[in-house]
Amino acid sequence: MSRATCATIHLGALRHNFARLRELAGAAQIMAVVKADAYGHGLERVARVLRDADAFGVACIADGQRLRAAGVRQRIVVLSGIDEAADIGEMHRLGLESTIHHVSQIDWLAADHDPRPLKVWIKIDSGMHRLGFAPEEVAGARERLLALANVDRDIGLMTHFANSDVFDDAQTGAQIDCFERIAAEMPGPQTLSNSAAVLGWPQARGEWIRPGGLLYGISAVAARSAADFGFRPAMTLSSKLVAINRIGKGEPIGYAATWICPEDMDIGVVQIGYGDGYPRSAESGTPVLLNGRRAPIVGRVSMDLITLDLREHGDARIGDRVVLWGPQLPVEEIAEHADTIGYELVCGMTRRVRFIEDQG
Ligand SMILES: *Cc1c(COP(=O)(O)O)cnc(C)c1O
Repeated sequence: MSRATCATIHLGALRHNFARLRELAGAAQIMAVVKADAYGHGLERVARVLRDADAFGVACIADGQRLRAAGVRQRIVVLSGIDEAADIGEMHRLGLESTIHHVSQIDWLAADHDPRPLKVWIKIDSGMHRLGFAPEEVAGARERLLALANVDRDIGLMTHFANSDVFDDAQTGAQIDCFERIAAEMPGPQTLSNSAAVLGWPQARGEWIRPGGLLYGISAVAARSAADFGFRPAMTLSSKLVAINRIGKGEPIGYAATWICPEDMDIGVVQIGYGDGYPRSAESGTPVLLNGRRAPIVGRVSMDLITLDLREHGDARIGDRVVLWGPQLPVEEIAEHADTIGYELVCGMTRRVRFIEDQG
């Protein structure tokens, strides 16, 4: 028998979330962000389901190769752009678009003699201070790009928010102002908003929005799950109970004895662990769903297994299904118990997790 650990991808939820984004986007086009294997949901699978996306945003050329090999015809934007001069030929061959965030990328383009124009988006550092040209450098970068025969003259402008999940955050307001001051001087399509900005900063919409998390039904907004905004989780992570053991009062559970039984009690053992991508940092008390009802994890998450307090689950039987996250148990809630965000959890499924698709 193969391991019971299984990630079910809900294709209907992906479709629903995309339609919900269409409603929120108004006239803006949607660049569906599918980096990190579509946030762990499967790049080709998600691209196939989101066939109405106006473009896809990926992290690297390799993702573009996979999408083209899968027959994807939409525009594809590589969000960090070319990494070396040799990438330019491959971008052309695959018909990919490049973010341009650094002068070194312009130097590579200037030294390249391919006559075909590459579509590019200038990344503006409006305040996050990760990638992008400083505000005073943008006009110069644009002039240099416009002078190159191998750059398409319809140059886009892009920026990324550091804190848009806090809806009254002053930094996001300042980033929008910074971007708009620059963009007012330049023609071309504009794109600012990630998922949280789509929800909380409608004034930042631009011609293109770039949602990732919301496509998968995951919220980046603290203490709010995506369901609160009308989105549906697209992944259920599940496994099953493989043992139920009676353990005596005062006995420790698991590595490092971090949890001690307060009474004689049943401990359930579930076939999932950090070797599958379930976070080792999930503390005692993190809930799972056992036959649709919550049960708390007790003791450390180990590589292959977790242990549950079954005191409220007298009806539990070996083989019962256990859900680690999904529509009835938001991954955002599990992330809080593990001191991370839902994005990291869904991105972290390892190769031994079996993926199945469900139309719902
Ligand atoms: C990841 C990413 C996005 C999508 O962010 P979400 O919070 O998942 O919506 C958008 N733009 C850029 C540049 C990104 O790197």
